[in-house]
Amino acid sequence: MSDRIADIWGTRTPFEQGGNWPARVDQKLAEGVAEADVQRWVKSACLLCSNGCGCDIAVKDGRMVGIRGRAEDRVNHGRLGPKGLFASWQGVDNRDRLTAPLVRENGGLVEADWDTAMERIAERSRALLEEKGPLSHGFYTSGQLFLEEYYALAVLGKAGIGTPHMDGNTRLCTATAAASMKESFGADGQPGSYTDIDECDAIILYGHNMAETQTVLWARVLDRIAGPDQPSLVCVDPRGTEVARHADVHLAVRPGTNLALMHGLIREVIENGWIDEDYVAGHTQRFGDLLAAVEPWTPEAVAGTCGVAAADVRRAAEIFGTSQRVLSTVLQGFYQSWQATASSCQVNNLHLLRGMLGRPGCGLLQMNGQPTAQNNRECGADGDLPGFRNWENPKHVRELAELWGVDELKFPHWAPPTHAAQIFRYAEQGSIGFLWISATNPAVSMPELQRMRRILAKPELFLVVQDLYLTETAQYADVVLPAAAWGEKTGTFTNVDRTVHLSDQAIEPPGQARSDLDIFLDYSRRMGFARNDGSPLLDWAGPEDAFRAWQECSRGRPCDYSGMSYAKLLARGGIQWPCNEEHPDGLERLYTDGTFSTEAGYCETYGHDLTTGATVGPTAYRAMAPAGRALFKTAPYSPPPEEPSDEYPLRYTTGRTAYHFHTRTKTGRAPQLNAAAPDMWVELSAADAQRYGIGEGDIAVVSSARGRITAPVRIGDVREGTVFAPFHYGYWDTGESPDDRPRAANELTMTEWDPVSKQPIFKNAAVRLEKAAAGSGPAPAPTTTASRPAQPGTVPATVGGAAAEAREELT
Ligand code: SF4
Repeated sequence: MSDRIADIWGTRTPFEQGGNWPARVDQKLAEGVAEADVQRWVKSACLLCSNGCGCDIAVKDGRMVGIRGRAEDRVNHGRLGPKGLFASWQGVDNRDRLTAPLVRENGGLVEADWDTAMERIAERSRALLEEKGPLSHGFYTSGQLFLEEYYALAVLGKAGIGTPHMDGNTRLCTATAAASMKESFGADGQPGSYTDIDECDAIILYGHNMAETQTVLWARVLDRIAGPDQPSLVCVDPRGTEVARHADVHLAVRPGTNLALMHGLIREVIENGWIDEDYVAGHTQRFGDLLAAVEPWTPEAVAGTCGVAAADVRRAAEIFGTSQRVLSTVLQGFYQSWQATASSCQVNNLHLLRGMLGRPGCGLLQMNGQPTAQNNRECGADGDLPGFRNWENPKHVRELAELWGVDELKFPHWAPPTHAAQIFRYAEQGSIGFLWISATNPAVSMPELQRMRRILAKPELFLVVQDLYLTETAQYADVVLPAAAWGEKTGTFTNVDRTVHLSDQAIEPPGQARSDLDIFLDYSRRMGFARNDGSPLLDWAGPEDAFRAWQECSRGRPCDYSGMSYAKLLARGGIQWPCNEEHPDGLERLYTDGTFSTEAGYCETYGHDLTTGATVGPTAYRAMAPAGRALFKTAPYSPPPEEPSDEYPLRYTTGRTAYHFHTRTKTGRAPQLNAAAPDMWVELSAADAQRYGIGEGDIAVVSSARGRITAPVRIGDVREGTVFAPFHYGYWDTGESPDDRPRAANELTMTEWDPVSKQPIFKNAAVRLEKAAAGSGPAPAPTTTASRPAQPGTVPATVGGAAAEAREELT
């Protein structure tokens, strides 16, 4: 048994390069439940981050009573992290689950039956469609539904209503991953595989605190590091994360300067001749643009702008340039920062320069944050056209119209889809009068929360919220719909390396709660959405029908699911897409022959100017004729829009801790996780703490031009001049309001976004900090993660005790 709060990554199982990662089956059962008591183990995959670890759910007397990893699963080889072990099942089995629909009456929410709630929604929807048309409707969804649910939502939003105002919280999370791959390779979809960790000589993590965001993936890296031939490691992160502690080179860049660093790395690689000229000549375009953009960025110029040592820039470039097989991973440190798409494209460009794609160990993982973000992007619930189709390509539009049996003009394709920040802007201005939010909590997760609360509270806005709990967002709703959770419904989802799992229903949902798919199908029926021949638009009886419909939609596209089935997924476990006649077992890596998805008739986008976001358009794109070659897309560096000033002299950045996921809707209800990180804190470097006369645990007020938060201070390992805040904490569990004790990190962030991916910039803002009161003890920040104290041993260590003990079975 092992305390998996104290030991996040579990027991080491070292292995050598090219070897097979040994299995280690992790298991946690509820207190008082023995293995012999478990009546059924139901196949699933964990839904608490994008890693998608294969697992079995333990069922006893109609309840989920635990979880174990699946040894044979290609993703995790049996392992589970703390969120999977403790929150996946406990986080949904809680007394405060929503069990009946709620409708607003006389200012308050009261219980209602489904018919009343759904009729209220349909009535308002019909009235607004008649009065104002489809542009009055907006849908804001999640990265945590199942594929089948996203596809249903995409079809009803586009072909039923005809609104372009659809997006998901994937916009906050992985929109830049998709955008960078579309710009460079012609379509979304990870080129690499998790097995690239097993094969590589070097791993470079760009703004990716893998140790906390995908703990099981990091365990795989740790096991390579513990093996006989450990890979070199480079970490780009302004904090001293666990990744940084293991790195050969840690580039603690000044927030907002990622692009300058990337220009410098590329310049060094080119200057030293570490490029594959044949690959560049045969498989890429626009090398001249890249050369011109990086030319000024000597290591010394990078050092001046990014605040890192020139020698470290040289050493990092050398590791990339001289290793035979490099795996690169990218996450929010790039995606939620200034010049997000341009910086992420530069990572793609490094791999193109060395021809390091499509071969074992030469992986590129433009990571996802959320478990099913990939499916939202594939299915088009984020506003894109399903199947990675191009809204500017009339043939793609026609294909969808034929598939759905509606006119092409029915669904919007005259402009790009509306991104999240713009959807809320339209709600603020009043042109959107009907907003349906599913499985996400913008009252805590969107930037500039004071403004967000004003929008959600607008009396003219008809707000539908569909969730497991009465979240901070649901409290503003006109109608609240109780949704079934993971384990209470069946469906599929796809992780970062394109592995699709089927998650089977283990138990019945509580009370009247229904699956998100059921709710969307019900709405479609009530609205009478129909095909041209008069038959129902969505005539699916359940998730398997929806999956089959999606298979047809994906056929022939990069994310081809046509060779899968529920039976095959159940029998085989995870299968990577594309899975079709040509690749019946799935395809481990994309672009193995150096042919990319950039052919004009096939590509998902004609691309953008990475500085302005202006579209390239079909004519200019066809003139370029990339015809299967990848594109070196880049942009000049410019400073972030909000820099420190006399009034706000510190930089502000936000992020996660290993113990929580998003706004803690599930992880905050898992006792072991909540005890490990129970409340908000902010992190400050020792030098800044001294300057401000602040000690560990003292209470600080941090303010930006948009708001303020009050939190205890952890004197930690963050870059000097920078304040870090975890973004998980809202208000549902304290009984306090933002006026009593503002603690949500997004009270301070700004409404700005990347011009191409439209991802909000959470990691750049200017703040000031003042000491408000002496503390009564250490900050409630874990000591086991990047938030550990700068002085080891100065605060009690984070442990989980008996309740956090999980079984690890080594094979
Ligand atoms: S790494 Fe992610 S998917 Fe795996 S158990 Fe942890 S939270 Fe779940």
